[in-house]
Amino acid sequence: MNEVLSVAGLKRSFEQAGVTIHVLRGVDLNVQAGEIVALLGPSGSGKSTLLQAVGLLEGGFEGSIRINGEEAASLDSDARTRLRRDALGFVYQFHHLLPDFSAEENVVLPQLIRDAEPAQARERAASLLGTLGLAERLTHRPSQLSGGEQQRVAVARALANRPALVLADEPTGNLDEATADIVFAEFLRLVRGEGSAALVATHNERIAAKMDRVMRLHDGVLE
Ligand code: ADP
Ligand code: MG
Repeated sequence: MNEVLSVAGLKRSFEQAGVTIHVLRGVDLNVQAGEIVALLGPSGSGKSTLLQAVGLLEGGFEGSIRINGEEAASLDSDARTRLRRDALGFVYQFHHLLPDFSAEENVVLPQLIRDAEPAQARERAASLLGTLGLAERLTHRPSQLSGGEQQRVAVARALANRPALVLADEPTGNLDEATADIVFAEFLRLVRGEGSAALVATHNERIAAKMDRVMRLHDGVLE
């Protein structure tokens, strides 16, 4: 079996001022190794809520989430942290790079956290950033980079540890349309080249259509 992600019956609701909002009402979703899946839905439809659950970033949901065959609910907090670190990579709408570190260091650090050899981590960072056209930007800090360049660094960082699954939440949502198209094409090329799978939240039909499969989030379920 080649499933990197298997979600079944996922439910999540929020209480606010005595009112219960049912955001996810029983989501079922499978992602195969190497597959790139769009999670399409308008703002407020629950895309980020679903990615946060799959990213093991918060509890409070009902249902099953299996990553690389491991059931998240049955893991203790250390094991969940290890699974997140070893199997997942994250790209957010805003890059969340460390401002005091260079582009290269931002891609090296997650590898060092996993006990990579520093010289090899630097080599991998330079190679990923080079593939994304940033060979001349390795020593730049995030504030010295354009929005598109910052997102490319965030993409390289997400792939640094060769995750089985990349979770991307509106990864080009903060860029103008032309830059978004270029950065997203590079994202797809790199993810495919690395053989990772990806689940990409977007409200943009044009971007969704470039992926292997489109899942629509509607009324708390996927269609
Ligand atoms: P999307 O990413 O598709 O725009 P979200 O997952 O961010 O949607 O939000 C889906 C719904 O869940 C929204 O109605 C939002 O207000 C609600 N929601 C999300 N997070 C919380 C929270 N922590 N507390 C209360 N409501 C929340
Ligand atoms: Mg969102």
